[in-house]
Amino acid sequence: MTGRTHDLAALTALGAVVMVVPQHPVTLGTVLVALVANQLGGIAPDIDEPTAPLWRNLPVGTFFGKIIGKMLGGHRFLTHSIVGAALFGWLLHVLLGLLGPIMHTVDPHLVWWAFMIGLISHLIMDTFTKEGVPWLLPIPIKFGLPPVRAWRVTTGQGVESFIIFPGLALIDIWWGVAHYDRLAAWLHLIVK
Ligand SMILES: [Zn+2]
Repeated sequence: MTGRTHDLAALTALGAVVMVVPQHPVTLGTVLVALVANQLGGIAPDIDEPTAPLWRNLPVGTFFGKIIGKMLGGHRFLTHSIVGAALFGWLLHVLLGLLGPIMHTVDPHLVWWAFMIGLISHLIMDTFTKEGVPWLLPIPIKFGLPPVRAWRVTTGQGVESFIIFPGLALIDIWWGVAHYDRLAAWLHLIVK
């Protein structure tokens, strides 16, 4: 899937989780940082690809992208597995621990979850593509849905652009409209 589909999928997944978990007061800082973390989580596994949005947008990013991609075993390898997700989770935990002293008003626990929800949504979305995802590395099998490869989505092509991307956008709009009261009540819980 492309970066923009992953970003939208990450937001959709976050919205779905926010809808079902009990609401409690959060700070505006937590909401903003969690949203950014969610979007970064949504594209993080593709750091194994030199053409990933993250690398494209950095100076000499493609160069670093190539090196890091090789170190991670190439595209759709370590970063697209449960082991990779656990590694990302651990690294973020360490990073948030270091940033804690300068982010007093931000709840690191919620930021961590927002990132991981984005990350898992990425792996789920890629599972629907022809390439599949090696969920159970080091077992070198790429899993895909549906199991018949020919029925899966080709990244960046018609089904993704005209069905999946607009479909996710519609889900988000529906969520905002249908659960407006819940959203408004939740926004009300944002404290300084
Ligand atoms: Zn990917």
